[in-house]
Amino acid sequence: MDRLAIVVPCYNEEEVLKIASKALRDTLNDLIGKGKIAENSYVLFVNDGSKDKTWELIEEEHKEHPKQIFGVKLAGNVGHQYALTAGLLTAMQMCDMSVSIDADLQDDVAVIEEMVDKFHEGKDIVYGVRKKRDTDTFFKRFTAQSFYKLMNIMGVKTVYNHADFRLMSQRAMVQFSEYKESNLFIRGMIPLIGYESDCVYYDRKERVAGESKYPLKKMLALAFNGISSFSVKPITMVTGLGVVIIIISILAAIYALISYIAGRVEPGWTSLILSIWFLGGVQLLCIGLIGQYIGKIYIEVKHRPRYNIEKILTDK
Ligand code: UDP
Ligand code: MG
Repeated sequence: MDRLAIVVPCYNEEEVLKIASKALRDTLNDLIGKGKIAENSYVLFVNDGSKDKTWELIEEEHKEHPKQIFGVKLAGNVGHQYALTAGLLTAMQMCDMSVSIDADLQDDVAVIEEMVDKFHEGKDIVYGVRKKRDTDTFFKRFTAQSFYKLMNIMGVKTVYNHADFRLMSQRAMVQFSEYKESNLFIRGMIPLIGYESDCVYYDRKERVAGESKYPLKKMLALAFNGISSFSVKPITMVTGLGVVIIIISILAAIYALISYIAGRVEPGWTSLILSIWFLGGVQLLCIGLIGQYIGKIYIEVKHRPRYNIEKILTDK
């Protein structure tokens, strides 16, 4: 029978932890009862350097349910993508499949069963895809949708309306572990694995309790990271911009020359100042953009560990 690991990154989730633990244990027991997963399946909570009681609660849950609730304590806050990676790579050698899900239960635990069914049909990766976004605020919906569209324009292949709620087979996890990059954008990496995949659809709910740990700043960082880690299109666009500006300046030079020959002497000062500013701006923009990539190269060549595990709680 196949052992399932449910991997849950948690950052300051004391309000939802117990509720999540209960809901996920119920899911496990239901699937075990139906003979779809092995009895030693478990939930792995990854504490991403929470400042509240999250880790204490994970320890308590582990004490109460030592066979079903496991924990990983990271030595500091490294962010959702890294915490999830820590969880997946920890679970990798102790499961046949994993499901990653957020602690706030916004993603529907009921479709985990469908995911497991697809796994038994031979799929290696099953994406959880949101049907609609009624429960999100207009702002969240708008920014998220623009994000997917922008990613598409930039040539990053992602599954539309899929975040990080997904099932992966053990061999897909092993393959994922071979992607050693430090700048993580997991939902862009998974399609690159290339194993057979499928989608299940669900409605995204409200957060059970607590508030979003993804403020606008983190969302923008994720979006920019997603694009610059997967696409060199921005650099191509800068080159294109350079070409366009060169053409414009040639045209402007021709115009100036004709004006000069015709004897219409321009006062010229305003246009001169304007173009200096304009070109200065464009140059700064381009240098900044190139700098972003150099910054990434800098981070990558250091090859630092992406997270440090402080403690692991399992059944061993
Ligand atoms: N999270 C994390 N580290 C962080 C921020 C968030 O592990 O630095 C976790 C968080 O606990 C939750 C998941 O990532 O389980 C998604 O966060 P959240 O629900 O706040 O994001 P939203 O649903 O608002 O996009
Ligand atoms: Mg959430």
